[in-house]
Amino acid sequence: MDANETIVFFNGELRPESQVGISIRDRGYLLGDAVFDATRTFNGAPFKLREHIHRLYDSLRYLRIDPGMDMDEMERWSLEVVKHNHPLLPSGQDMWVMQRISRGVDATGPNDRPGPTVLIESHAIPFARRAPLYRDGVRVITPSVPRIPPRFQSPRAKTHNYLNLVLGDLEAQATDPDSWAVLLDESGNLTEGRGSNIFLVKDGEVCTPRGQFVLEGITRGIVLDLATGLDLPVAEKDLDLFDAYTADEAFLTSTSLCICPVSAVNGATVGNGKVPGPVTQRLMSAFSDLAGMDYVAQYLSHLP
Ligand code: PLP
Repeated sequence: MDANETIVFFNGELRPESQVGISIRDRGYLLGDAVFDATRTFNGAPFKLREHIHRLYDSLRYLRIDPGMDMDEMERWSLEVVKHNHPLLPSGQDMWVMQRISRGVDATGPNDRPGPTVLIESHAIPFARRAPLYRDGVRVITPSVPRIPPRFQSPRAKTHNYLNLVLGDLEAQATDPDSWAVLLDESGNLTEGRGSNIFLVKDGEVCTPRGQFVLEGITRGIVLDLATGLDLPVAEKDLDLFDAYTADEAFLTSTSLCICPVSAVNGATVGNGKVPGPVTQRLMSAFSDLAGMDYVAQYLSHLP
């Protein structure tokens, strides 16, 4: 294996990334019948990998896919992929390591491989593209397309079926190409975006939509814990556009963004417009301490 080429774990073995071929009849490709999870590294060390793998196995159970290996093995192979691939990044960069498991192909012929398709891959986080968000804040737009109700398909499972969120992004970005969509539910409550949870801060209280209606982000959980540790009141509750327009501060959370301030919702400035607001700033600093590096400085170092 060429030590300078990125490797992946694919169906039981490590291989160069260029030598992976997924069947054109794989159900992950045909139907979105697959799950995934994504962990980020800080200085090359995966952060909260075990928690992400735990969530991955919950998503697998929801879709009744047996990956054919236990969590320990999934973790070990994920660490192998990171160990090989992180040194190939330019210095100062970090990456996602992602596990993707589909139900595989509906075996019809003698050459069809039965069982799930298991892939563990890594790729660089787009720091340069996102760096301005830490200087200017995220502009959030709530598109007209509602988030799929949990009784149709639970948002708590991280599946390959992201079309609902993609449609939201398309609509938001047609209005403002640099905006981030956060979808409302059918009752007009905030839910989440394609890859992020949302928080509002009002009169010192740190609030986020209830866990039943969103993917329970690992970062979302960390922020709730950090806020509690900072003696800030926290609440998981229904939040609508009134709450968003009257919030003092708002921010998005995700594995790669960590905590990123929001400057506007549907064109309405959040709070006094200065980002990050004081509570968000405290949480961002606490997050950096926990991660063991100043992640905001890492993003900002990629500004032109
Ligand atoms: N919501 C959705 C739909 C996501 O895909 C993600 C990303 O994983 C999140 C929220 C944020 O979750 P986390 O903090 O675990 O990255």
